[in-house]
Amino acid sequence: MEPTVALNGVWHSYGDASDGWTLKGVDLQVAPGELLGLLGPSGCGKTTLLRLIAGFERPRRGTVQLDQRMVAGDGIWMEPERRGVGMVFQDYALFPHLNAWQNASFGLPRRNPNLERVAWLFALLGLKGLEQRYPHQLSGGQRQRLALARALAPAPRVVLLDEPFSSLDVEVRLRLRSELSSVLDACGASGVIVTHDPINALTLADQIMVIDDGALVQVGSPRELVDTPRSAY
Ligand code: ADP
Repeated sequence: MEPTVALNGVWHSYGDASDGWTLKGVDLQVAPGELLGLLGPSGCGKTTLLRLIAGFERPRRGTVQLDQRMVAGDGIWMEPERRGVGMVFQDYALFPHLNAWQNASFGLPRRNPNLERVAWLFALLGLKGLEQRYPHQLSGGQRQRLALARALAPAPRVVLLDEPFSSLDVEVRLRLRSELSSVLDACGASGVIVTHDPINALTLADQIMVIDDGALVQVGSPRELVDTPRSAY
């Protein structure tokens, strides 16, 4: 099966590359329906990878493809809003002045928005009945679900999640973690999830990519990484 996301030989630096490279020739592939975990210590370049896939950064070298379509590199550039990529940020980035329903519908086309899908996502994510609440009237776990609903509402092919569980308490984290892959499955979306927590990555992802200092250390299934780890991390 052709990958939904493919990065080839991606090099990136913020500002002048003479200060060093943030990413050093990274290759990455996400198969359709797969959840890929990006694992590595803080500052190794995980978020930068997400930003390159989403289109918030341009790679200095190398290419980014989504559904076999070049979106960055080789002189091509596709704007983030045209990429069909959903984002869930660490702090959720919900709009405080919009209620839950308005937050979730925000990214839909004005003309002919698929509100049935939003209602379906509210049911799927256990948010039914909370439509009129504002973000500050929701629990941490509910805010997290709402951020996921908003990312999934425009039916993206890929959802990018940046440390989405870090500010939740343990119990909520466990529940959401076990739900995430089934929610992505139900939506037919692939996912890339960034985490610095090996337990998150091992229990959640289909494939894990271990990164250190901007370079790939190992990629494999959780099983392979536990059985034959190539780094102490
Ligand atoms: P991670 O997500 O693994 O913690 P990041 O991708 O956020 O790592 O950061 C990788 C490196 O790039 C770090 O050294 C960080 O300081 C640097 N960096 C990240 N964002 C910026 C930015 N906007 N400007 C300059 N340097 C940045």
